[in-house]
Amino acid sequence: MSRTESTISQARRLCHQLFLSSCVKEKRQSGHEALLRQRPHWSVLKKEEQIQKIDQGESIPFDITLPLPARDERAGSDAGVNLFWELFSCQRCGRCCFTPGAGLYLEKEDFERIAAHMGKKRLQSLCRYDKTLQAWILRQPCPFFDSKSGCKIYQIRPQTCTKYPLHPPSPDMPYHLAADAFCPGAREFAKNTLGWWIICENHWAELLGRLEADGAQKER
Ligand code: SF4
Ligand code: SF4
Repeated sequence: MSRTESTISQARRLCHQLFLSSCVKEKRQSGHEALLRQRPHWSVLKKEEQIQKIDQGESIPFDITLPLPARDERAGSDAGVNLFWELFSCQRCGRCCFTPGAGLYLEKEDFERIAAHMGKKRLQSLCRYDKTLQAWILRQPCPFFDSKSGCKIYQIRPQTCTKYPLHPPSPDMPYHLAADAFCPGAREFAKNTLGWWIICENHWAELLGRLEADGAQKER
């Protein structure tokens, strides 16, 4: 890793550690608007281009990194996740349920909860067992999806479904939330929050300034 890359990764980590709650607060209060009036920013200059890129997720699956801090091991570090769920609007299109795919991983607790509701044998008949993962995988398109009424086991649906469209953060942006661009609700969220990136950049600029000043002091 080059020195610049290592400084940027250090700044991102510090940004997450130091600005976690103020970041979410500023974004909740639309703090980006005043900043955008002060200087040009790619989120405004390249808005159309970004929107087109986000919409590609409809046909080419990829994760969109969102300008909100991901939850970490610290208690109370879920403000970014909470703000996502407050603002996310599911369009009830059912794409995440009826799309064919490799299958939906069931945690042990998921399997037990759903099996208690419908019977173990019946649930197994809707799944395949993956020996490598040592887990039951629910067939896709999901057998619990009903085109008229939606999810037939909504109250006891698998954990993966309760978290969707959020995915684990990408390795390139480990401190930000990531969402599945295949989900139209997630794409809307990403478009509506493009301007929020200016707040992230403000924090990084402040930290890089601090890190450079610290480095210069050490070299003296
Ligand atoms: S794909 Fe997204 S918008 Fe559509 S039902 Fe699933 S979560 Fe909701
Ligand atoms: S269990 Fe329910 S929410 Fe999950 S994929 Fe199936 S229909 Fe959708």
